[in-house]
Amino acid sequence: NVHSSNVYECMKNETEVKNKLLPYTWIVVRIDGRHFHQFSDMHDFDKPNDSKALGLMNACVVALLEKFKDVIFAYGVSDEYSFVFSKTSQFQQRQGSNIVSMIVSFFSSLYVLNWDEFFPHKELRSTPSFDGRAICYPSTKILRDYLAWRQVDCHINNQYNTCFWMLVKSGKTKREAQSILKGTQTPDKNDLLYKQFGIDYNTLPAMFRKGSFIFRDKVEEIVQHRENGCGHIQKVQMKVIIEHCDIIGESFWKENPHLIT
Ligand code: ATP
Ligand code: ATP
Ligand code: MG
Ligand code: MG
Ligand code: MG
Ligand code: MG
Ligand code: MG
Repeated sequence: NVHSSNVYECMKNETEVKNKLLPYTWIVVRIDGRHFHQFSDMHDFDKPNDSKALGLMNACVVALLEKFKDVIFAYGVSDEYSFVFSKTSQFQQRQGSNIVSMIVSFFSSLYVLNWDEFFPHKELRSTPSFDGRAICYPSTKILRDYLAWRQVDCHINNQYNTCFWMLVKSGKTKREAQSILKGTQTPDKNDLLYKQFGIDYNTLPAMFRKGSFIFRDKVEEIVQHRENGCGHIQKVQMKVIIEHCDIIGESFWKENPHLIT
């Protein structure tokens, strides 16, 4: 009846905590795989980088960008991804918990759904899940700083892991590898890779060194004219694309100004 429905309406308004994200700020939702160290062991991921696992993460992000138009671009590495929403996005009325829960649940489902395509001969043996959080960045500069922080983290982790696993694969124990690397700086690690293993760090796959940046871009397609078969029409379509580029410097953002202005 009318009376009780009012009571229940009151319940919703009075007890559900609103956590509206600050208006006119960039929203970043960062997700991170839960216990993926264990998950990657359980599924025999190549170390330090399993290309198929990264391919699976990226395929999920492409599908997510196709579904959620409010996500402008995403940057990720390892088991984490950051999704960027525009300053003016009204997605879920900017309610943080709604946004985060939708992104993590959709992403987790995609990860399971797409598993077989990337690991056709490997059974999924546990239930992958992701944590998520929303952060607001009031200026483009701070958003750029955030993205640079994640790419620097990618570099530092990847360089360390590359050294660590080369040492382990060459017969050192994990403990020995750890103590060899303790206190080393970037040039020391590059030296170690080059002198001991003949690896030039900068020639390793860009996906490992730079992470993945996924965004929509205009793609021009030339299609044959139906009637006479000879002429052609130019079709411009928005397509989700993946790049493994430097996002710390200026050049990427100068080439793609529409992403961040
Ligand atoms: P938490 O639940 O706190 O996030 P975690 O075990 O997931 O714990 P992270 O710091 O997120 O720890 O690190 C993710 C780990 O997952 C990496 O250290 C690595 O061992 C593994 N991993 C993730 N993706 C890959 C991949 N593509 N190839 C190889 N290993 C991977
Ligand atoms: P949480 O339990 O909140 O998930 P976390 O340790 O997983 O904590 P995140 O906030 O998810 O950390 O950060 C992701 C990554 O950023 C970490 O795996 C680590 O590489 C790096 N990181 C986090 N905090 C710091 C810090 N204070 N200084 C340097 N690097 C950090
Ligand atoms: Mg975390
Ligand atoms: Mg963590
Ligand atoms: Mg994790
Ligand atoms: Mg992680
Ligand atoms: Mg609902």
